Amino acid sequence: MKILLCFGTRPEAIKMAPLYHQLRKDSFFDVKVCVTAQHRQMLDQVLDFFEIVPDYDLDLMQKNQSLNALSARILTGINEVFLEVKPDLVCVHGDTTTSSMVALAAFHNGIKVGHIEAGLRTYNKNSPFPEEINRQITGRLADFHFAPTSWAAENLLQEKVSIENILVTGNTVIDALQLGISKLENNFTCADLDLVKQVVDTTKKVILITGHRRENFGVGFENLCLAIRDLAITETNVQIIYPVHLNPNVQEPVQRILGDVPNVNLIPPVDYPAFLYLMQQSYFIVTDSGGVQEEAPSLGKPVLVTRDTTERPEAIQAGTVELVGTNTETIVAACLRLLHNEKQYQLMSKAHNPYGDGKACEKIINYLVKTDLV
Ligand code: UDP
Repeated sequence: MKILLCFGTRPEAIKMAPLYHQLRKDSFFDVKVCVTAQHRQMLDQVLDFFEIVPDYDLDLMQKNQSLNALSARILTGINEVFLEVKPDLVCVHGDTTTSSMVALAAFHNGIKVGHIEAGLRTYNKNSPFPEEINRQITGRLADFHFAPTSWAAENLLQEKVSIENILVTGNTVIDALQLGISKLENNFTCADLDLVKQVVDTTKKVILITGHRRENFGVGFENLCLAIRDLAITETNVQIIYPVHLNPNVQEPVQRILGDVPNVNLIPPVDYPAFLYLMQQSYFIVTDSGGVQEEAPSLGKPVLVTRDTTERPEAIQAGTVELVGTNTETIVAACLRLLHNEKQYQLMSKAHNPYGDGKACEKIINYLVKTDLV
């Protein structure tokens, strides 16, 4: 079976990497990779770490590019690749502009689409923007839906997707995490890892922060930064480490409000192995990231999510994640509870990970072998 994996951003690359490696081990598949490079630098770090050399690189990132311009360039760029590769199946991941536009281009060419991490929904088209619509479009176009949880599969069933085209697999991010950790344990080194090892103060409780969502640009990020500043000033035995996303909407408030606050280490976004190390060293994590919510429970780290809605309710039900929104006082209060209420901390850190056990890729591959597309 000729299979083309397409992705464009860091989280997609992380979650597709273990699938790529396992597909390549199976002679049933002829695997090709096309990256759109929607986010150039952050994508390349992941490709290097997971030793993936794309067969096609559309190199589409441009400064201040509108979503419409990007969409148009993906549609035309990927068409050329389809004509050359003639895949039996195109696999896309999750909820990016790359996922939805590649799925649409495949549909126009009569090529079957597999959607990894299918079925996540908020059913609020503006939150998260544009991810919710991207995943709904991709879901409508996909032929095979690999849902991370039974909740995600249930959403697809409600949307009248046939049950035989849905498989609950767990999330491939756990497969990636296990692969990543085994590389770290085998003495993998890189500049970012060396840097974060120097930054972490092992005598303190480390709070790790990340954030990048458009829905939090403006007031959301301002409030988060104010909360971090309050915590850093009052809680002197914590260290706050914040790899700051490169988007100017994130950089501006963060540098302005947190630029010279003691106990706060602002660092550039770090590559995946360094981030894994930071998660391992952290006491808990404050983030709006989807992937981090899925990874952290496998490392026993509680997560406070700075959003009002979520397409990942399983983590809240399991007790590993608390949705805290973007109100300064609420964020500070939730952090203080985790820092000072041992019972609450233990409950969150010991809850089981609802996103799987690292066997997602194996399940996807077994399903594809049985679904004879050739
Ligand atoms: N991550 C990383 N470096 C960082 C922050 C996050 O490698 O500085 C990883 C993290 O481990 C997770 C992924 O990037 O696997 C999440 O990406 P992001 O938060 O950008 O997107 P989302 O998951 O929300 O789509």
